[in-house]
Amino acid sequence: MSGDKKTSILLVEDEENLHEALKLNLELEGYEVTSAFDGAAALKAVSNEYFDLIILDVMLPEMDGITVTETIRLSNNDVPVLILSAKNSSADRVLGLKKGADDYLTKPFNLEELLLRVYKLINKNKKLQDKTTLGDHYEFGNNQVDFKAQEATSFNGEKIQLSKKETMLLKLLIENKNEVVPREKILQSVWGYNVYPTTRTIDNFILNFRKYFEEDSRNPRYFHSVRGVGYKYSE
Ligand code: CA
Repeated sequence: MSGDKKTSILLVEDEENLHEALKLNLELEGYEVTSAFDGAAALKAVSNEYFDLIILDVMLPEMDGITVTETIRLSNNDVPVLILSAKNSSADRVLGLKKGADDYLTKPFNLEELLLRVYKLINKNKKLQDKTTLGDHYEFGNNQVDFKAQEATSFNGEKIQLSKKETMLLKLLIENKNEVVPREKILQSVWGYNVYPTTRTIDNFILNFRKYFEEDSRNPRYFHSVRGVGYKYSE
């Protein structure tokens, strides 16, 4: 796990021994764990605080985990939910997924499997968030981009008018920052299915981006081409 803020998990489980064991293991993995022992406490915590993930037992006193999941989703909260269901209750699992849970584990489960699923759910969600939080404006280094106006201001104060395709490619690369975007995906998203520019065309766009935004365009910091694979924006 990296980043400044610890990844936070709400653990909702009424069996105390299991609760403590899970909490300890999640904390050892570097997560910050908030405890709830019933559905009402879980909902209260969710309404007061941001969580990266909820681990939710189905069999809880009074309000069950499925109702908790449904209530969370009805309030338009997309937090990933991993439900823990009792053995032989496939009806619970199906209902839980229908009501908006993202994944489930059947008790008794393997701890490593739980940690793996937790990790996957959290990362999947973080990637989605990174993508959706990219608004009209973006800043990197001393460069500024306005996707909507198709304009940019470079590190040296120069105003740049971006073409529509430049804007689209820039946005696509930044949305997938630190990941290689395959050439096929770029062609599909920026040029559409019917037109096939050569690799050279994309290379020229990348050269332009370096001219606009790199202080040393021969040693690019942000815009990289990965030979034979695609292109990457890194920060
Ligand atoms: Ca229980």
